[in-house]
Amino acid sequence: METHDADSFLIEAIRHGDQRAWRQLIDRYQGRLLAFARSRLGAGSDAEDALQETFLGFVTSLKHFDAGRSLETYLFAILRYKIGEVLTKKQRRSEVTAGFDIEDDAPGLPEPSVSETPSGIAAKREGSDRQADVIATILRRLIEELRDKGRLEDLRVIELLFYVGLRNKEAGELLGRDEKAIAGVKFRALGRLREFLAELQEDDRGLLDDQRLFGDTTIARVWRRRRLSCLKRNTLGSYLLGVLDEPWLSYTAFHLDTVKCLMCRANAEDLSEDAGELSTAERGEEMFQSSVGFLSRIDEA
Ligand SMILES: [Zn+2]
Repeated sequence: METHDADSFLIEAIRHGDQRAWRQLIDRYQGRLLAFARSRLGAGSDAEDALQETFLGFVTSLKHFDAGRSLETYLFAILRYKIGEVLTKKQRRSEVTAGFDIEDDAPGLPEPSVSETPSGIAAKREGSDRQADVIATILRRLIEELRDKGRLEDLRVIELLFYVGLRNKEAGELLGRDEKAIAGVKFRALGRLREFLAELQEDDRGLLDDQRLFGDTTIARVWRRRRLSCLKRNTLGSYLLGVLDEPWLSYTAFHLDTVKCLMCRANAEDLSEDAGELSTAERGEEMFQSSVGFLSRIDEA
């Protein structure tokens, strides 16, 4: 995992107060984070404020960051939390608490890969992770099998059913397929998942009963958080450049425009931004200046 290694290296340097590494981290992530913040808060200053708060939040909580975690996931978790704070302030919704969950503002649409607050991450991590690992393992096998056999049409079906949460009829209408055909794809997919589950070690298998596994929300949550069918950045890049071939061309369009995956849309927006745009560099500098002062305090803490 190259990205992960590069991130670990950066974080180690930042922990030692390396300002250049901090600037590098900002440059690497600000585009994606800002695109996501804008998708939630609009193009105004709220999104930039949330971004700034996110970098500040990260640098001040760095000593709690577990290097085994994905940096991207962690940054997006903080950002989500900051976005939640902005929305809470704006909407003054009394029911919104620290464990902010904006799932209800986009019914039927997938959420990005994290739903935790930074403070809740460590506490929640242990308990449900192994179970989520098991679900992710068998889902990944299914997705890879469909991909390897070139059955992306079927992958679209289960993505709409398991991930987006559509009914057979709705998925059929969206894909222009017969409802019975959709039911057949679902039936076969569930059968494969059960087979994969049966092949796992006894103690992993024991973590799941059928109901828990096939409760739609569990699958959707794991799928979303692990980004199991999300597109690589270079696939998105090829798509945007118009050089992606079938069947990935159709699948990418489907994932972005029909599933409306927020993470991939944020990535695509980031990639399509004009590389020469001055404000990106300026913004990076601003993010850097507003947070760099906290670097020196890390070692003292
Ligand atoms: Zn995606």
